[in-house]
Amino acid sequence: MTPMVEICDLHKSFGSLQVLKGIDFRVDRGQVICVIGPSGSGKSTLLRCVNLLEQPTAGQVFVEGEELTHVDVDIDAARRRVGMVFQQFNLFPHLKVLDNVTIAQRRVLKRSKAEAERIARENLAKVGLDDKSDCYPAQLSGGQQQRVAIARALAMEPDLMLFDEPTSALDPELVGDVLTVMRRLAQEGMTMLVVTHEMAFARDVADRVVFMDGGVIVEEGPPEQVIGAPQQERTRSFLRRVL
Ligand code: ADP
Ligand code: MG
Repeated sequence: MTPMVEICDLHKSFGSLQVLKGIDFRVDRGQVICVIGPSGSGKSTLLRCVNLLEQPTAGQVFVEGEELTHVDVDIDAARRRVGMVFQQFNLFPHLKVLDNVTIAQRRVLKRSKAEAERIARENLAKVGLDDKSDCYPAQLSGGQQQRVAIARALAMEPDLMLFDEPTSALDPELVGDVLTVMRRLAQEGMTMLVVTHEMAFARDVADRVVFMDGGVIVEEGPPEQVIGAPQQERTRSFLRRVL
């Protein structure tokens, strides 16, 4: 089966700073991969290379067999298949929740207002916010805003969802609702690549955990191995700090 994502010898530098130093891995359809590692290890840069928010310096990224790093690729079409949720929710403050979830559907997918709103309401219901369509982002908690951001990404019907520390900006009591939505998505079979410091989530939900440090993958495998019985000293010392 063609992997959903395949990354081959990916390198990324910013000027003389080498951030990714040869990353290889694959994500199969329906899998959840959690990427863990210290701050500055290149986790966000890796995700950003998967949807070409950053142009890799060398190496290849394939999504469903199509090489995104190929010069002739239709970047917009490729990006459309990949949803992304950031640490900062990046909602439009001047738009109501419903309009935040319809705007890209209308502009990018050219859906009619009625269809975009129907799909927006379905996805808002999915994240438990069907009663908040007419609110402005500032009227919502951080956890609710992040769930709107998830609904907005889902409304584009992506094949793959990327999450970059989606709960790191939230007050502790708001983290659970966002993780619950993500668990449900995983159970429904969404393919997900999740950068997170939530080790309990990684242990319960991930098919594989990837530990990055210094721009390389130090260790990867099932969570019971990487989190439960890490082989590398660098992994053990990171886990001692976060667990
Ligand atoms: P992580 O998400 O693991 O904390 P990042 O991928 O954000 O790590 O960053 C890895 C390194 O790359 C850091 O040293 C960071 O300062 C640097 N970096 C990230 N983005 C840029 C950029 N656009 N320009 C220059 N340096 C960057
Ligand atoms: Mg980061």
